[in-house]
Amino acid sequence: MKTGELGEFELIEALTRGVADGGPDVVCGVGDDAAVLRAGGGRLLLTTCDAQIEDVHFARGAISPEQLGRRLVQVNLSDVAAMGGKPRFALASLAAPADCDTGWLERVFDGLAAALEAAGATLVGGNTARLPERTALHLFLIGEVEEQRLLRRSGARPGDLLCVTGALGGPAAGLLLLEDESIACEPRARERALERHLRPTARLAAGRVLGKAAGARSCIDVSDGLVADARHLAASSGVAISIDAGAVPLAECASAVALASGRDPLELALGGGEEYELLFTVDPAAAEQLLDDLLEHAATNATVIGAVAPGSGEVTVLRDGRPLAIRADGFDHFG
Ligand code: MG
Ligand code: MG
Ligand code: MG
Repeated sequence: MKTGELGEFELIEALTRGVADGGPDVVCGVGDDAAVLRAGGGRLLLTTCDAQIEDVHFARGAISPEQLGRRLVQVNLSDVAAMGGKPRFALASLAAPADCDTGWLERVFDGLAAALEAAGATLVGGNTARLPERTALHLFLIGEVEEQRLLRRSGARPGDLLCVTGALGGPAAGLLLLEDESIACEPRARERALERHLRPTARLAAGRVLGKAAGARSCIDVSDGLVADARHLAASSGVAISIDAGAVPLAECASAVALASGRDPLELALGGGEEYELLFTVDPAAAEQLLDDLLEHAATNATVIGAVAPGSGEVTVLRDGRPLAIRADGFDHFG
């Protein structure tokens, strides 16, 4: 069978099926946003890696090198944010052709170093290798989290409210604009949508607030798409999740681009990946306080968009109380 037939998540399962259990120091292995490792002295390390591959995650003409380096950092920071942690150290792996412009690469690493520094983390090593064509960048990020602040995908309970930070659809709208130059939308919405796609910002401060809050029970970052990531959360927690389509916060730029391209903005918000917002569940008794805390201590808006019920991984999207049929499979690297 080929990777494209199996699909990303089935592939991960097939590749990790025989992996040995790492023992008591592995608090959380494959299957969350980051692995959680006991480092002694009551400390938990968070480890994660993510990539930016030319012609898969970026096109050279569409993103500046500094933006690319920054983006590589943010997609990794987002996984640490989703666990409630703080980023500390990073390793970068670069594979590039022999004729790759070194000035361009230096600018990529300028962007990378600046983004790490702004997040309180440092580049401490890495590797370089030659690739026949195109450039592949990987970042391995190490963070830490206090045990009582650790947020996992698996903590959602029936009765919890489902919430999301920010407003959705912007990055998908930006990608649409890059893919189809004929879409005519007003300049400010265009600029904002492209910004959301090219310059994502991980919700680190919000992750820290969520980790501290007693009522926050589970969390994932929205990288595959709202519905797809809700499925990951529901499956990890062994619950069902319903999303109220009317409550999903739409980015203004997403509505503008959807209008200009004849699409349903909800499609962008439910199915678009690379949002790097946080999707979390909260004890209803603590929800109001938590949303206030996010605003006050992380300058982050969050919205209640659904609820958790008993189940086994089902996700439904309801519009006016009725299930909505919408193509929102999220992003699968091999599907
Ligand atoms: Mg993630
Ligand atoms: Mg990933
Ligand atoms: Mg990731």
